[in-house]
Amino acid sequence: MNYDPKSSKAEEFINHEEILESLEYAKQNKYNKELIEVILDKANMAKGLTHREAALLLECEDEKLIQKMFKLAEDLKKRFYGNRIVMFAPLYLSNYCINGCVYCPYHLKNKDIARKKLTQEEIKKEVIALQDLGHKRLALEAGEDPINNPIEYILESIKTIYSIKHKNGAIRRVNVNIAATTVDNYQKLKEAGIGTYILFQETYNKVAYEKLHPTGPKHDYAYHTEAMDRAMEGGIDDVGLGVLYGLSTYKYELVGILMHAEHLEAKYGVGPHTISVPRLRPANDIDVSDFPEALSDDIFQKIVAIIRLAVPYTGMIVSTRESQKTREKVLHLGISQISGASSTSVGGYDDRAKGLKEEITSAQFDVDDDRTLDEIVNWLLEMDYIPSFCTACYREGRTGDRFMSLCKNGQIANCCQPNALMTLKEYLEDYASNNTKEIGENLILNEIKKIPKDKVREIVEDRLVKIADGERDFRF
Ligand code: SF4
Ligand code: SF4
Repeated sequence: MNYDPKSSKAEEFINHEEILESLEYAKQNKYNKELIEVILDKANMAKGLTHREAALLLECEDEKLIQKMFKLAEDLKKRFYGNRIVMFAPLYLSNYCINGCVYCPYHLKNKDIARKKLTQEEIKKEVIALQDLGHKRLALEAGEDPINNPIEYILESIKTIYSIKHKNGAIRRVNVNIAATTVDNYQKLKEAGIGTYILFQETYNKVAYEKLHPTGPKHDYAYHTEAMDRAMEGGIDDVGLGVLYGLSTYKYELVGILMHAEHLEAKYGVGPHTISVPRLRPANDIDVSDFPEALSDDIFQKIVAIIRLAVPYTGMIVSTRESQKTREKVLHLGISQISGASSTSVGGYDDRAKGLKEEITSAQFDVDDDRTLDEIVNWLLEMDYIPSFCTACYREGRTGDRFMSLCKNGQIANCCQPNALMTLKEYLEDYASNNTKEIGENLILNEIKKIPKDKVREIVEDRLVKIADGERDFRF
């Protein structure tokens, strides 16, 4: 197999030999400070990095150079994302699954877990509970099961979610994380108005992949790895990548995911919309000590920083799998999106709203950051971040290469900043505690001054008054 980033074949665009050669190149050059400095200069120009260059940065153990990487990642993040952090929540529809993934409690053979699939009526209740928290953006999750969770069920659920308007609440963007599927089904998801299609590769190492997915349709490495190509063919041009760190060796995974990004760029002219960085967590039937590749916090931070340098325009997501402390660290290193107040159980939001104990045994993993959304918003505001509930881009048709070109020339910030302030204002009016409201209003006053164009600033000021008067859903 030859390495070919433009190939449609998984084993050519994620090429095992090329990964091994890149890792070897990194080892050979790890003490070459001059070369590492050249790579950091390139990163500083926001030109991105190749998978080989990123492999070398990952191999570097020089503390000074590592600190330089961290500083650069923070600078780049500020350049493209300012101090905005986009908020979202996962919504689990069903944990029926016919796959045998050994790291996930939803695997077919787990008889201990409570199996649940939400009816449309139950989805309404979940969505109302999510709206009452203040969420506007969801990531839909469902196991792979053609009988219990066929595509028709997912499409109907999306329709239900978008249809619910409760008080001032609305879910304005539904991202979808379901199993690899056909071009036809991706077309249907596109027509249903999804935001990003997210599919984690779990591991790019084929041998490890096949062992970790011993049974079920997910066992097919090529079908899974080529899913984003089919999604693109189906018209979905915002796709989200991720590996589950801890399953296999992290060096291999970092090179693999950057090769995947290079493939999408080479073949479709648009890289991934987002990259997620989940780490393995304990769960029902899952003992993390069975996985010797667990990642230390230090390496985790280095990976986040290097991804930020390698793909400066790609959104980066960290979930509530991580603790408050870890999330605080990686926010500085390039993370642009976080989840908040997440339930990883099927039906968990409505249970929580009713004061019931969450159905722990239907959870996909234990969350580490279990604060309320108000606590998370407050925490971000205290650190001078702007929590953003913006969902404007795909609703304005800014997707795929159109979105990426706006990102690359920096123009997207003209939309993100005002949208962040207006959606934060909505949150403060409708859902925030008094203290959060007070800090948030002060932050908005300071941030408005930073909007460079007079005209835009005036429009935002006018709209903020209208939001206080009860109008909603303004966007640039
Ligand atoms: S990771 Fe996904 S496909 Fe695998 S068992 Fe869990 S829900 Fe099913
Ligand atoms: S304007 Fe677009 S890129 Fe910016 S936060 Fe909103 S949806 Fe994201």
